[in-house]
Amino acid sequence: MVGSIEVDVMSDKLNGKVVPLPEEFDPIAMISDPLPPQVVENGGIVDDEAEDKQNREIVLGKNVHTMCLAVTEPDADDEVTGEREAYMASVLARYRRSLIERTKHHLGYPYNLDFDYGALAQLQHFSINNLGDPFIESNYGVHSRQFEVGVLDWFARLWELEKNEYWGYITNCGTEGNLHGILVGREVFPDGILYASRESHYSVFKAARMYRMECIKVETLASGEIDCTDFKAKLLPNKDKPSIVNVNIGTTVKGAVDDLDLVIKTLEDTGFTHDRFYIHCDGALFGLMIPFVKRAPKVTFKKPIGSVSVSGHKFVGCPMPCGVQITRLEHINALSRNVEYLASRDATIMGSRNGHAPIFLWYTLNRKGYRGFQKEVQKCLRNAHYLKDRLRSAGIGAMLNELSSTVVFERPQDEEFVRRWQLACQGSIAHVVVMPNITVEKLDDFLNELIGKRSTWFQDGKSQPPCIAADVGKENCACVMHK
Ligand SMILES: *Cc1c(COP(=O)(O)O)cnc(C)c1O
Repeated sequence: MVGSIEVDVMSDKLNGKVVPLPEEFDPIAMISDPLPPQVVENGGIVDDEAEDKQNREIVLGKNVHTMCLAVTEPDADDEVTGEREAYMASVLARYRRSLIERTKHHLGYPYNLDFDYGALAQLQHFSINNLGDPFIESNYGVHSRQFEVGVLDWFARLWELEKNEYWGYITNCGTEGNLHGILVGREVFPDGILYASRESHYSVFKAARMYRMECIKVETLASGEIDCTDFKAKLLPNKDKPSIVNVNIGTTVKGAVDDLDLVIKTLEDTGFTHDRFYIHCDGALFGLMIPFVKRAPKVTFKKPIGSVSVSGHKFVGCPMPCGVQITRLEHINALSRNVEYLASRDATIMGSRNGHAPIFLWYTLNRKGYRGFQKEVQKCLRNAHYLKDRLRSAGIGAMLNELSSTVVFERPQDEEFVRRWQLACQGSIAHVVVMPNITVEKLDDFLNELIGKRSTWFQDGKSQPPCIAADVGKENCACVMHK
């Protein structure tokens, strides 16, 4: 094999074989042989070994490729016959129909699926990339920094940080915001210990592993909030090291809001002065809802916090994953490096950044504004209460945190039902996150189906509704012992 070509292999996931490129690889030659093996439409491969492999796949139950739409090589005359174009168009049309159907029956993930970005379709012809620092123009001109900075300004104002005191960027998701916030904390306090409640999002613990930080898990209350008594007990033996704390503005599973004020007070009472701790607020889910909820602890940079992040595809409703990260400008200098190749500064986690996302965010912020979000939040909270009340009156264990629109309830016994409504489950519980696209009619459809099916799951008396007291507290459980 020719030296440099050895690494140029095509991995054929369908049959696990690795297909090397032709030995005498001439980059400008026309290749006439079809490279990958022949595939049929459902992804099955026409040879014996494949059947073998498919059996094994079922045994393993993971890495399933049977649903995949294989990439097939064009035939020489495809351009003439137009067959390939027609095939691809039919695949896309079918896919579109399934998206419409799956969007209709989605309840479990905190994504607002109600939006219309038709006006932005004209932009899909451009490769918009905001690589580098949002505030320092790079040499790549096809960017959307003007939208990005506009969106960042809006969020900085929401969280009460002056224009000349904040730094931030549009991330690729909430996880990237957490990775960034915790990294800033680590750079400010290289020997700091990371504290996070055990119900924090998995990305927080991923950050700890990636950065090889010492990480202490703090217990939670039944609501899912951080337990500050346990927090204090865990801080006390570690007073010699600075604290980096992840505070949840809405946990993933129960929608619990950590009490930011109590976390700060606990740190202060334990002897941590403001120059000895860094707080990152993970507002992926609820960061844009909480400003509109009365009684909720206020998320603001007037308090001693270091960063806040929020996902853009959750409550805001962007059609692609994205997020917003805001931190204090003073911290970012500890982290950034100048990069000549970009003619910009490197202070982000990712390199290339989705330049379309800020435009979608900008579009929605402009359309809805502060008032629009407020209305939507109120609607979500109302509908979440409706769902919880109906579940409870049907004898189904359920919990709804006061500040949240995440309704936690008994995990349905039927996996098919769980898949149909795309419920997120953990152990004995499942949840519905009531987003602006979830109407009362949709909830009624779901409830009627659930109540109907449930009566068949338990009718012969062989199985009982699960006890969820350990997850949500006795008072929210409806099992035989607690109802
Ligand atoms: C969804 C979520 C994240 C991660 O956000 P992604 O955008 O999915 O990466 C982080 N924290 C919480 C609390 C979340 O709900």
